[in-house]
Amino acid sequence: MRDYTTLKLGGPADWMALPASGEEVAAMTAEARENGIPVTILGHGSNVLVLDGGIRGLVIRMGRGMNRIEVRGRTVTAQAGAMMSAVAAAAAEAGLAGLEFAGGIPGSVGGGAIMNAGAYGGEMRQVISSVTGIMPDGRKLELTGTEMAFGYRKSAMQENGMTVTQVTFELQEGEPAEIRARMAELNRRRAESQPLDVPSAGSTFKRPEGAYAAALIDQCGLKGYAVGGAKVSPKHAGFLVNTGESAADYLELVRRVQRIVEERTGIRLEPEIRIMGEEETK
Ligand SMILES: Cc1cc2nc3c(=O)[nH]c(=O)nc-3n(C[C@H](O)[C@H](O)[C@H](O)COP(=O)(O)OP(=O)(O)OC[C@H]3O[C@@H](n4cnc5c(N)ncnc54)[C@H](O)[C@@H]3O)c2cc1C
Repeated sequence: MRDYTTLKLGGPADWMALPASGEEVAAMTAEARENGIPVTILGHGSNVLVLDGGIRGLVIRMGRGMNRIEVRGRTVTAQAGAMMSAVAAAAAEAGLAGLEFAGGIPGSVGGGAIMNAGAYGGEMRQVISSVTGIMPDGRKLELTGTEMAFGYRKSAMQENGMTVTQVTFELQEGEPAEIRARMAELNRRRAESQPLDVPSAGSTFKRPEGAYAAALIDQCGLKGYAVGGAKVSPKHAGFLVNTGESAADYLELVRRVQRIVEERTGIRLEPEIRIMGEEETK
């Protein structure tokens, strides 16, 4: 799985499928369900830590086969595997504003909807009008408005097990040049503050109430703190980066940072990254 995650960690999956349509996703999940095979859905793998033992069962990866984007008026419809940067670029091209904040988030729109991804004051919930997907019992469902129950890095789809196959955005009219300039400015700020040249999954922890994870970690003197090749980025303490090959080291680093920050500040950091798969049995 290291080839399919931005952290570049994780043992093998038993099977991986790359669907090319919502119908294929439905057929694959139905077949897996009938045969008692567990299914894990993956987007671009930019918010996950896959453990060294890998993933049992079937991984369905929303990737290149599921990346169509359609613009009609102020509505943009994208298959779940389309990258947020590609959808933001298509919107800018069409003179549609609202997705500038997402241009630099390195995930798919399916993953973005599941996580209610956000940056620089923007969040998916402000621009997504509906999601279509497949429920664990095989039903196809569309959720709109409050049914999506977006919260901070949370959504109804994260709770109810929906496999998102399509995301629809409702955007505002704007000037393509201005939209592109704003996107470029945000990307510049991102490159300045984040370690984009080292494997990571973005911010490892959620923002705790009334504080910033990066500031707390920094305050505890943990910049550069490492367990094997897993390291608190010296550039941005909120990013735990990977320079090695061991998910076990990475998980140990997550736990130690949690422990040290809690001991020194009384605040418990909760991971934003999703931890998947099995630890290696030796
Ligand atoms: C350098 C860097 C910067 C980042 N900056 C930001 C940022 O500014 N803001 C932010 O919010 N995040 C940021 N992230 C984290 C990440 O990009 C987002 O969380 C993104 O939305 C994840 O999308 P993905 O396709 O990679 O999802 P994945 O990591 O593949 O999956 C994330 C979760 O969603 C589930 N999932 C994915 N696709 C689907 C689907 N179609 N149906 C059902 N479940 C699905 C997975 O099972 C998993 O639980 C950053 C990551 C990196 C590496």
